[in-house]
This record gives sequence, structure tokens and C-alpha cells, in this order.
Amino acid sequence: MRMEYLREDLRSLKAYQVVQETCTLKLDANESPFPVPLEIRAQLATELLNGSNFQLYPDTNADPLRDALAKQLELERENILIGNGSDELLHIVTTAFAGPGDRVLCPSPGFGMVSYYARLTGAVPVDYSLNERFQYSLPQIEKSIIEHQPKILHICTPNNPTGGTMAVSDIASLARWYDGVVVVDEAYYEFHGETTVSMINRLPNVVVLRTFSKAMGLAGLRVGYLICNKYLAREIYKVKPPYNVNGFSQRAAELMLEHRDIQMERVREIVEAREWLYQALEGLRGIDPYPSRANFILIKVKDAAAFYKGLLEKGILVKHFADNPVLKNHLRITIGRKDDNKYILHSLAEILTNMEDW
Ligand code: PMP
Repeated sequence: MRMEYLREDLRSLKAYQVVQETCTLKLDANESPFPVPLEIRAQLATELLNGSNFQLYPDTNADPLRDALAKQLELERENILIGNGSDELLHIVTTAFAGPGDRVLCPSPGFGMVSYYARLTGAVPVDYSLNERFQYSLPQIEKSIIEHQPKILHICTPNNPTGGTMAVSDIASLARWYDGVVVVDEAYYEFHGETTVSMINRLPNVVVLRTFSKAMGLAGLRVGYLICNKYLAREIYKVKPPYNVNGFSQRAAELMLEHRDIQMERVREIVEAREWLYQALEGLRGIDPYPSRANFILIKVKDAAAFYKGLLEKGILVKHFADNPVLKNHLRITIGRKDDNKYILHSLAEILTNMEDW
């Protein structure tokens, strides 16, 4: 393959990499520690045995799933678009609203795929900084908007990887003032509980993204959803590939919604585990945790590479941001089950002690 075949502006782009290490505790990708509930697996198995219709294309708009979500969100199906993970929806909204040369404002530190998709469309991602404790700073965002006149402003709340949030009232005031599309990524909404969804009909330029991959525990089946006013949704639909979400995943997501009580109980356990771990980490000298409203905690340490390696030796895989200078010496730990916390804490303390002995 000759490099020249590739679009010139993509030649320096690095393909998305996933670390694949053997571990006993996988805490690097903010997945749910819980398997899909048995009653849902049993229901899916029964439906498969009774005839799957996999010889046919799936419902291209996933209408039964959109209806179930619309009911839960007190909206209409026309307010919702289903994606192959919210990742695909990030790509779709970026393509819909930003073209070659357009600016796209992205939080830094933030979710890397946001700027990646901007580049794929030929747009120019521009980072806006968070404050020194990685909290959103409204003046900083306003300054960046005035300076760069972006087509899209990305906000992620709670933000990955920092865990910080932006108040709905702040999002609303930015959206009223800014003349462009505001994408509010609520991938971790369930662990926080505050949402901009109720504002979408009053804020015509706001698009909210959610996912079944985190609190709903369905990362392997790839289902996300986008919520916005009907007119904007109709425009975004022009970019959605047909049949983008397979029939099995659509049905599994519907069943998850029917058993939302189980998921919410699990969310409560994770939130309790998060609060416990945060308090415990605060008590460790040499580890500086950032407050989080998501299912992970970002920590600052003296030597992230040594911690990463030390944890891996104990079977714990966390996220290390080796290529990101803004996150030098930071690690992100996904919150697992309550029972895992003591082992994580003990492992971190042991690594700290060994470092002091050096
Ligand atoms: N947004 C954020 C902030 C995320 O952290 C992730 C996953 N890491 C996604 C979107 C994509 O999630 P998915 O495609 O699984 O819905």
C-alpha cells in the first residue's frame, strides 16, 4: 500500500489502539463489572431458539428501542437516533455539522475520539483547557469560542477521564449565547444523575449523547443513543448509515430498559464503591485523586509508569495516558465491585511503600 493513496491530512493520524494485557481485574475502559442479568440472557436465548430473523436486515431506525427510550425520557421517537455505540454517534454528529477546515472545540483532557472524528471529517480540532484541577472553566470556553468560531462545541459531563462535571445551567447559558452546535456527551450520566435532556426542546442547538456501554453494562453489543429536537434530528439522520445497529443488540438494549431496576441497583453499588475508594485514596500520601461523578477516578502520582507496571504485576489493568503530556503522571481507575476496592487500595499502598524504599 502506498502512503500517497491515503488522504494527505490523515497520513499523520495514529489509528486507535487498545491495550491488550492479561489481567484479573480489568479497570482500564470504564466497563461495567457486572454480567448481563441472567433473566435477560435467558430471554434472549429463548427468542433466538424460537427464530432469529437474522436472514433479514434489522430495523434501520431501531423503532421499538427508540419508543422504549422515548417513553422513559418523556420524549418522542423523532427526538432519538440509535448508534453503534455513542462512538458512532460522535462520528455522525461531527460529520453532520463540521466540514473541511471548520473548527471543533474539544475539552482537554477529554475523550480522545472527539478530536479524532473531527480530523476524519477534515475539520480542525481545537483543545480548550480545563482549570488546574481539571474542572470546566466557563470563561476559558467563552474565550476559545470567540477566538476560534467553532462549528461544534464538545462538552462531556461527567468528563472522561477527569470525572468533573458542568452544571446544566452553565451548559444552557453557553448554548443560548453560542451560535453553533453543542454536543453534550453524557456517557456516564447514570453515575451522576444530572442531565441536559430535559432542555433539548428549549435549546435547539444542543445534542445529547448517551450509551448502553457503561451503567447499562452492554459495551460488547455496541448501542448508543442521541437525543435532540426533532428538526435537528431529521438533519442528523441524513448522515446515519442504514442498518447501523444489529437486531440482536437492539433487542438486548430494549430488554435492559425493561429491567432498569437491576441496572440502577448496580449503579448504586458502583457509586458507593467510588465514594469509598475516593476517601481511601485521599488518605494515601503520594496519591492525589480527583473528585469524580462517573464510574472511574483519575489519580495523580509521582511516576505513573511505575504504578501502571506495579498494578499490572498484581493483575490490575488501569488506564495509563503515556502519550498525553497533559496527563503526565496520571492514571484512571475504573470503579469495579465493592469487594475489589480493598485489593486495589492494598496494591497501591504496597507500590507506594516499595517506592519509598528505593
Ligand atoms: N463518550 C465517552 C466520554 C466515553 O468515555 C466513551 C467510551 N469510553 C464513549 C463516548 C464511547 O462509548 P460507546 O461507543 O461504547 O458508547
